[in-house]
Amino acid sequence: MFESQQPVLTDHYDVVVIGGGPAGASTGALTAEHGHRTLILERSDVPRFHVGESLIPETYWTLQRLGLVERLRDSAYPRKYSVQFFSEGMKPSAPFYFDEYKNCESSQTWQVWRDTFDQMLLERAVELGATVHTQAQVIDAHFDGDRATGVRVRTAGPDSSRVDQDISCRVIVDATGQSAFLASRLGLKDTDPALKKGTIWTYFKDARRDPGKDEGATLIMQTAEKQSWFWFIPLPDNVTSIGCTADMDVLFPRGLTAEESFQRELNRCPAMVERLKNATRVRDYLKTKDYSYYARQGAGPGWMLVGDAYGFIDPVYSSGVFLALKSGEFAADAIHEAFETQDFSTEQLGSWQDIHAKGVDVFRKLVYAFYNPTFSFGRFLKMHPEFRSHVTDILIGDVFKRDFNACFESMGDVTPPVSA
Ligand SMILES: Cc1cc2nc3c(=O)[nH]c(=O)nc-3n(C[C@H](O)[C@H](O)[C@H](O)COP(=O)(O)OP(=O)(O)OC[C@H]3O[C@@H](n4cnc5c(N)ncnc54)[C@H](O)[C@@H]3O)c2cc1C
Repeated sequence: MFESQQPVLTDHYDVVVIGGGPAGASTGALTAEHGHRTLILERSDVPRFHVGESLIPETYWTLQRLGLVERLRDSAYPRKYSVQFFSEGMKPSAPFYFDEYKNCESSQTWQVWRDTFDQMLLERAVELGATVHTQAQVIDAHFDGDRATGVRVRTAGPDSSRVDQDISCRVIVDATGQSAFLASRLGLKDTDPALKKGTIWTYFKDARRDPGKDEGATLIMQTAEKQSWFWFIPLPDNVTSIGCTADMDVLFPRGLTAEESFQRELNRCPAMVERLKNATRVRDYLKTKDYSYYARQGAGPGWMLVGDAYGFIDPVYSSGVFLALKSGEFAADAIHEAFETQDFSTEQLGSWQDIHAKGVDVFRKLVYAFYNPTFSFGRFLKMHPEFRSHVTDILIGDVFKRDFNACFESMGDVTPPVSA
């Protein structure tokens, strides 16, 4: 859709969003809906492939605000009602059903192909008034002192030539995902030494799913001695996304191919071997690594960071798209307020970031517990059944309202050891 009708860009917009993933599309859709002239620049063709197919229930509210829930209900994306954890490669825990404590419309979510899901978000941004240009790579950001004033974008010209254009704006939103365009330029990225992980993943047809309500469940399987873990994410057409995550030195040792490393970890996980017994791999092995980081500062005069460009913790609880959408929503409202008050300061544009950081921290602590070699959720919940609803709330993504301190205090310090 986008490539066949690229817009002619003007030299000024109120808001320029760099990146058209969930964070950029939601920010741009909602600033446009607020009435601000918004340009979203995406370097890829759309649709484009992306890892990260499992949603969590609290994405519902941003999707509802964007007017997309009906389209998801009409889609072929599998319904996800729960997540289930397996320890030592084979022992299943009771599934965490999202409707166990709150049975409401948002207690069910979806497993999505990210190419079509992200395209749907970008198309919605256009419907709400944003201008979207794909195949448009931002190659520079302009500042007047510390105030952001615009970007330089490179698009395709006639006969495979390239055209560079300077565009000024009141607010630049960096939604460039793991490229973290502004945070890298401004030297703001901090990595988390306790989470130096890598992932190898691929897709199988006809992997065994559980029946009924559990058919669309995400399964998280820790391998023997917690050396690594696998995800099992059911997708349309009986395709399942299977990924393996571990410390980078474990997953990418010298001399092993991605396939060999994946197979070695699979052999440590009998429950996954059993599910793949009659399955056929339908894609090459893909890999990514060193994706956990956080920007020390999320906003400045005339600029802000959203989604992965602001930070990413870990794939284990599928929190990435939720945090991308939620930060987009927070950012759009802060930008609207900035236009209303003509205050484009760090304080105004970053006004949502304390509450967001608190929510991110809740996920991070539960990620630490997952990787701690001596911590067991099964044991913890047996000793403290009163905290099962806290853990379920975090798995749902309901992290911004409740106070989780008592739950984490009972876990003690669960920071995992730093790997070599
Ligand atoms: C191994 C792994 C597994 C994951 N699994 C899950 C999961 O199951 N569920 C989940 O919710 N999350 C998951 N995630 C996280 C999820 O993929 C991300 O959190 C999510 O995609 C973030 O959205 P975003 O919009 O911030 O960034 P992205 O989706 O990465 O979008 C950024 C966009 O910016 C564009 N861009 C970059 N640089 C420029 C530039 N200079 N100019 C123009 N455009 C640019 C890119 O082309 C891209 O389209 C996973 C992540 C990893 C690493």
